[in-house]
Amino acid sequence: MEKILIVGCKRAMDNVCIGCSRCIVGFNKKDGEFDRYKDQDSELIGLLNCGDCPGAAIVTRLAQVNLWNKPMGEKITKVHIAACIIDHCPYRETIIEKIKKKAGVEVIEGTHPYKPENIFA
Ligand code: SF4
Repeated sequence: MEKILIVGCKRAMDNVCIGCSRCIVGFNKKDGEFDRYKDQDSELIGLLNCGDCPGAAIVTRLAQVNLWNKPMGEKITKVHIAACIIDHCPYRETIIEKIKKKAGVEVIEGTHPYKPENIFA
């Protein structure tokens, strides 16, 4: 069973991508980078924001998520970096590098594929 944590941009999660529904729907439908779980059991364990610019608290926040889930016996097996970080964060390289260095599980860059190409077309 894969247990998935999504890491996203705090500002996007708070103000832009309200409800994080595209990541959740993408996971439920196994679309985008979640298609790798089509033939296996998987659960979404959480949606963690980076802690705000410049993402200095990300490693601490990962540790907190792990601690928070311990009493339930949950252990994250995969981390997905959300589209909001990959496409828009000026600190993304540092943040992703930090996560990859400390997570101890596979870190996958990407989540949902639902990016509108044209606003007015
Ligand atoms: S550090 Fe990047 S991912 Fe985090 S809030 Fe700022 S822009 Fe968003």
